[in-house]
Amino acid sequence: LDAHLAPYVGKRNELKGIVAVLHDITDIRRLEKMRSEFVANVSHELKTPITSVKGFAETLLDGAMDDEELLHDFLNIIHKESVRLHRLINDILHLSKIEQHLVTPIVEEVNVTEVIRNVAETIRKEVKTKGLELELPDNTNVWVEGERDRIQQIILNLVSNAVVYTPEGGKISVSVSERENEVDIRVQDNGIGISKKDLPRIFERFYRVDKARARDSGGTGLGLAIVKHLIESHHGSIKVESEEGEGTIFTVTLPKKQANM
Ligand code: ADP
Repeated sequence: LDAHLAPYVGKRNELKGIVAVLHDITDIRRLEKMRSEFVANVSHELKTPITSVKGFAETLLDGAMDDEELLHDFLNIIHKESVRLHRLINDILHLSKIEQHLVTPIVEEVNVTEVIRNVAETIRKEVKTKGLELELPDNTNVWVEGERDRIQQIILNLVSNAVVYTPEGGKISVSVSERENEVDIRVQDNGIGISKKDLPRIFERFYRVDKARARDSGGTGLGLAIVKHLIESHHGSIKVESEEGEGTIFTVTLPKKQANM
């Protein structure tokens, strides 16, 4: 609580009372705290790849590049870390734009079934390499309202996570169901799952259950935060259910295409 007190005086300067203005600033404080935590997180996340790029480049310049094998290995690391840095910066900028409501989705008629088929195509190689089974909805077209590319980004993000967090030979299934005014898109996997303790936090920026593992997979910890914001800007919602060691189900609900569109 923020309080401002001011004396209220009469014509002869006599004290008539006190004016108190009270502000509930808990929200403002909380936002400030979140913002500074975010800056600290961003700095930390950027530091890791930069330190690595700097270190390996210096070692090469100090003479390691005379060794053909080291040269090759270190350049590979430098490349990998730069790719990570690039992705991180893109994600951060993107998230900050959505959060400031600088991106309002355009409203198109989007064929979700087709979007899911495109996502499956994009991720085909990873699915094959891991020997995963990917089950897709049948070809019945289901339409929602929103921006096609954004909806594709949302689904790609969820399916990519399912691929990363499902061990070899596992199964991922994407399904769609229609209700009166809404459409549910479910992305289900039988992977490692998420513990009860972590579940409420996975949509937070930079939150990762297992930092080392997520880093190896190239994750930035921003994917689900972006997904959640994108869905909200589409007037939709996202829900997650998970059981450790059993698997995870993400359900995205988006507004259905209106009949008159
Ligand atoms: P990341 O870039 O690390 O994948 P996300 O924001 O996409 O970040 O996800 C946050 C965390 O949620 C991940 O680090 C992971 O621990 C957990 N997670 C997301 N999707 C799944 C899933 N399908 N199965 C298990 N854990 C998941």
